[in-house]
Amino acid sequence: MLKTINERYQQLAINEDIYETGIIITADTGFADEPNMQYLNENNINGYVPDNQFRKRDEKFATQIEKHGKRSDHRKNSNAKSVIPSSEFRYDPTDNTCCCPEGHSMTCKKKGENQRGIETVFFHCKASICKTCPRINTCMRNPEAIHKRNAIGRQVSFINEEKRKPTYTDWMKERIDSDEGKLIYGHRMSVIEPVFGNLSNKGLTTFSLRGKTKVQNQFKLYCLVHNIEKIKNYGKIAA
Ligand code: SF4
Repeated sequence: MLKTINERYQQLAINEDIYETGIIITADTGFADEPNMQYLNENNINGYVPDNQFRKRDEKFATQIEKHGKRSDHRKNSNAKSVIPSSEFRYDPTDNTCCCPEGHSMTCKKKGENQRGIETVFFHCKASICKTCPRINTCMRNPEAIHKRNAIGRQVSFINEEKRKPTYTDWMKERIDSDEGKLIYGHRMSVIEPVFGNLSNKGLTTFSLRGKTKVQNQFKLYCLVHNIEKIKNYGKIAA
C-alpha cells in the first residue's frame, strides 16, 4: 500500500519520494506486525502504528476498564471465550519447564519463532490429564475437542525475555509510547475516523458489488464523491 501511494505521488509529479519529506504515516493496530514495522524502519518512513496493548501501557487509560468495562464486553457478536491466561502457568526458563494451574508438568513441544519472528517456547499438557481436569471448561477454548482422536491438551507459549533480541515491534512501541507518538496517534482519530463515518452516512455500510475489482471501483466512486465534497466545502480555505 505504501509503495502504491509513493507511485501515485510520482505519477502526479507531486514528489519523487513522498516519504523523504518526513510525512507522517499512521495506521491502526491491524497493521502492527513485525514485517510492516521492519518495512517502515528500513525505508526510513516516519510511521506510527500502535500494537493492541498500547492503551494498557498508557497510564492515562489506567481507569478506563473500571469506568467503561472491557471493549470486548460491548461487542455483541464476539464469540471468543476467555480462558485461564498463560500468566497463570508457571514457566521456568532456567530449566525450560512449565506447570499448569492444576500443578501438572507440561511437555515442551518446540522452541522456535512465533508469528512475529520472536523466539518462543511452546508447551502442551497431555490430553489424558486435561480430560479429567475439573478446570477444563475454563482452561480450554474448546473442551469437547479433548475427546477426539490425537487430541492434545491445553497449549501455552512463552517468550524468553532475557534471550530475545530487540525487534522492530519494540522500536515501534517506543515511538508510539513517546509523548509525540501519543499526540500524533490521538490526532489520527479526528483525521481518519470521520472519513469512515462520512462514507457510511453516504450509504457505504456494505458493498453492493462482488469481486475485488468491482469493490475497488465502488470504493473509489465513494472516495471521489467524498473528495469533491471536501473541495467544495474547504477548497477555498486550502487555497
Ligand atoms: S485443563 Fe489441563 S492444562 Fe488446564 S489446568 Fe487442567 S490439567 Fe492443567
